[in-house]
Amino acid sequence: MEKVLVTGGAGYIGAHACKALAGAGFLPVAFDNLSTGWSGAVQWGPLVKGDLMDRASIDAALHEHRPVAVMHFAALSLVGEATRDPARYWRVNVGGALNLLEACVAAGVGRFVLSSTCATYGDQDGVLLTEDTPQRPINAYGGSKLAIERMVADFGAAFGIAHVIFRYFNVAGADPDGEIGEQHLPETHLIPLMLDAVVGKRPALTVFGTDYPTPDGTCVRDYVHVTDLAKAHVLGLKRLLDGKGNGVFCLGTGRGFSVREVIEASRMVTNREVPVVIGDRRAGDAAALVSSSTRAMTDLGWDPQHSTLRQMIGDAWAWAQKPGFDG
Ligand code: UDP
Repeated sequence: MEKVLVTGGAGYIGAHACKALAGAGFLPVAFDNLSTGWSGAVQWGPLVKGDLMDRASIDAALHEHRPVAVMHFAALSLVGEATRDPARYWRVNVGGALNLLEACVAAGVGRFVLSSTCATYGDQDGVLLTEDTPQRPINAYGGSKLAIERMVADFGAAFGIAHVIFRYFNVAGADPDGEIGEQHLPETHLIPLMLDAVVGKRPALTVFGTDYPTPDGTCVRDYVHVTDLAKAHVLGLKRLLDGKGNGVFCLGTGRGFSVREVIEASRMVTNREVPVVIGDRRAGDAAALVSSSTRAMTDLGWDPQHSTLRQMIGDAWAWAQKPGFDG
């Protein structure tokens, strides 16, 4: 069985990618420091407990498992936190990726799939974002991810590491089979916080700003189902294994929803009200981030069939009824 080293494989998106890889006949080896991930989410292959800031632990994992490719998910990924503590984002995200790429060169791993983000675009007046839209990040999370994109391209050029870069829009939902789902401590993302408010685990959802230049004043995002996102990674890996060359792909749906629209969709799915309070804008948030993902669809054959708001909220709602991971 061909192995793939999945950094961040115990995290939300990484674990879903491991499940998709296993479904496609690969053995995912999760490499994770468990700082935000859960050992209980690692169900489709071994867990290597290691840290990207510790080069020796990466070398050891690559030496032991000899993967055909690395998928790099492990990173700090919260806009608010990045805005308050940029140094940590630059150190961990950029330093970790540099260690990983250098370890790949040393171990002769020639295929690399990078998880990047729409946060690399910054605020672009609501235009439909494509892979060619100039990237102008407005927070340290987006800045650190853009630096990593450039690093991957430089290492690709210098050492022949074939690579695919995915720029995710807003990832949501949970495994439709209910085996894994989103569990962050602390939780900061809209949909799980909203569902927590619905069941009374939190008093209310705070809407971050109602004075944005969007149709209803709340931020607009392009939500994509985590299972669809995971499938794109398998397609990206196959592209590299087939020798079809490097690529950059946006992963969204081409359709944006405002925070108010997400709340309305939740009401329809759960049949329950969302207690809401209106708050200030969150520092670092762009007004609207919506992707044209036609390149992923045409070049990779990606078909995001689960990415309706109804299914994303429905699967997250089903996951929220479960006990979750205990670590
Ligand atoms: N949001 C909100 N209240 C919250 C969390 C998020 O209004 O408690 C908004 C946030 O401003 C953004 C959208 O919901 O416009 C999605 O935020 P999230 O943190 O889920 O993802 P991000 O866009 O930061 O990747």
